[in-house]
Amino acid sequence: MSAPADERSSPFSATERSRVRRKAERGAYDRDIVYAILDEALFCHVGFVVSGQPFVIPTIHARVVDDLLLHGAAANHMLKSLAARIDACVTVTILDGLVMARSWFHHSMNYRSVVLFGRAARVGDEAEKRAGLEAVVEHVARGRAADSRPPTPTELRSTLLLRMPIVEASAKVRAGGPIDDDEDMGTHHWAGVVPLTLTAGPPAPDAMLSAAAIAPDYVAHWSRPSR
Ligand SMILES: Cc1cc2nc3c(=O)[nH]c(=O)nc-3n(C[C@H](O)[C@H](O)[C@H](O)COP(=O)(O)OP(=O)(O)OC[C@H]3O[C@@H](n4cnc5c(N)ncnc54)[C@H](O)[C@@H]3O)c2cc1C
Repeated sequence: MSAPADERSSPFSATERSRVRRKAERGAYDRDIVYAILDEALFCHVGFVVSGQPFVIPTIHARVVDDLLLHGAAANHMLKSLAARIDACVTVTILDGLVMARSWFHHSMNYRSVVLFGRAARVGDEAEKRAGLEAVVEHVARGRAADSRPPTPTELRSTLLLRMPIVEASAKVRAGGPIDDDEDMGTHHWAGVVPLTLTAGPPAPDAMLSAAAIAPDYVAHWSRPSR
């Protein structure tokens, strides 16, 4: 389910629960900002409550237009619970740096994060399910879907795919150096930022792979964002 075309470029409306209050100036509701963070983050954390018990489960996601897709085994507790249309809160975080301040108090991290609220629904239509699973594979490495085998009917049946419309979303972004107190500026403590990025190591070919097989470009030079 996608938002009407004229709504797709509009920012999300901040709601009572999605409005960033603490350090509100770091909050953003622009679709482009939220979607760029969702697309760059490799995985998300899904929060939900079953019988009063909160769960927060890490899992792969993919965004297709205005929907967030989640997939897994048909027996997956999180997915089966969400398929019953319960409230969910999904977060993603990209860590950009460690902020070392002169005082313990002002240490921080540079990040880009997103919080989504919503309800997911099972994708039943077979063609839609295949397209959704392709999007999940492509989310991890663009170009990979065409370079690997699509699911058999049995594999498709044993996989649950959920679609959560992205309707209530906020981003929060911290960038820059430490924000120290004036009275600490003269101290000798080192202060600044340790930048962090996700980088891939050299590809490790599977032991059964033919020696002639060459790693495709998206493997040899894997990086985020993938799109
Ligand atoms: C890597 C990382 C480390 C952090 N470390 C700390 C820490 O140690 N201590 C600390 O106090 N805070 C930390 N934060 C910030 C934290 O995520 C919260 O924004 C902050 O704690 C304020 O929480 P709150 O419940 O008072 O937010 P409020 O402003 O009351 O939250 C209201 C609504 O704003 C939205 N929102 C809040 N935080 C975020 C977010 N990060 N991204 C997107 N939307 C958001 C949600 O929809 C939320 O329901 C960290 C964030 C990241 C990404």
